[in-house]
Amino acid sequence: MTKTDTSSPRFDLGGVSISIVSGGRLKLDGGAMFGIIPKPLWSRRIGVDDQNRIQLACNCVLIEWDGPGARKTLIETGHGAKFAQKEQEIFAIDSANWLLPSLVARGIDAAQIDDVILSHLHFDHAGGLTHYIGDELTRTFPKAAVHAQRREFDDARRNFGIMKITYREENYTPIDNADAWRLHDGEGELVPGVSAARTAGHTHGHQSLIIRGRDRAAVFLGDVMPTRHHLGAPYNMGYDLLPIDNRDSKSRMLRQAAEQDALIIIDHEPDHPVCRVARDGDWYSLQPAE
Ligand SMILES: [Zn+2]
Repeated sequence: MTKTDTSSPRFDLGGVSISIVSGGRLKLDGGAMFGIIPKPLWSRRIGVDDQNRIQLACNCVLIEWDGPGARKTLIETGHGAKFAQKEQEIFAIDSANWLLPSLVARGIDAAQIDDVILSHLHFDHAGGLTHYIGDELTRTFPKAAVHAQRREFDDARRNFGIMKITYREENYTPIDNADAWRLHDGEGELVPGVSAARTAGHTHGHQSLIIRGRDRAAVFLGDVMPTRHHLGAPYNMGYDLLPIDNRDSKSRMLRQAAEQDALIIIDHEPDHPVCRVARDGDWYSLQPAE
């Protein structure tokens, strides 16, 4: 069990609360995660294992509105549990540690989730949408509508990207069969209280999500800024399709979060997934909020 499985705090935004729920953990090559940044710079901030991999979390967000019978929404589903032994080794994935057991540990039944919103459809975000029960591939959230940007959906279905193993039909077909996709074009409210900001960069159809409570907002950045060590403008991933666009998306989201004193939620950050952001001229700094 990871720290966030059992002890994630709840943040009350006023009429709605958010909690981080673990969608699992994985390791990826440190060089690929930091793009053009030389290793002597990034390795001062984060350690590597004997294969040059860094530890990442898959942080999902459970959004609970106040009141009996109120809707529950999830942002992201983590990597899921559908990996062969070799893939588990390559990515250091423990297939027993994914979103469904994390929700069960919190007393949440998957059938209580009304909506699932995805920043994009790579396997470490969409993998928990489906799982096997015996030989049958089934939806993890049997009553949920699944929200994504239409551009992302189209790119996923034609496997348009630089990583050919990351868009996986096994994560999508049970959602097709249930007619549960809700595809959106651009910005605006996806479900009451949660709106999309288009943040192209990591993929063309990437979106960040803004959760608005009565008292404050929280911003789920998605892979715009995967860890707190990716705060600087040139700290993009080698995996980003459009690094320049990602840089612009990141500075826009950080500026807005700082102006509104919104919480920011960092999707692959293993230690401090929820932070506040402060602006000092052209620089930003993060303060863990938990
Ligand atoms: Zn990711």
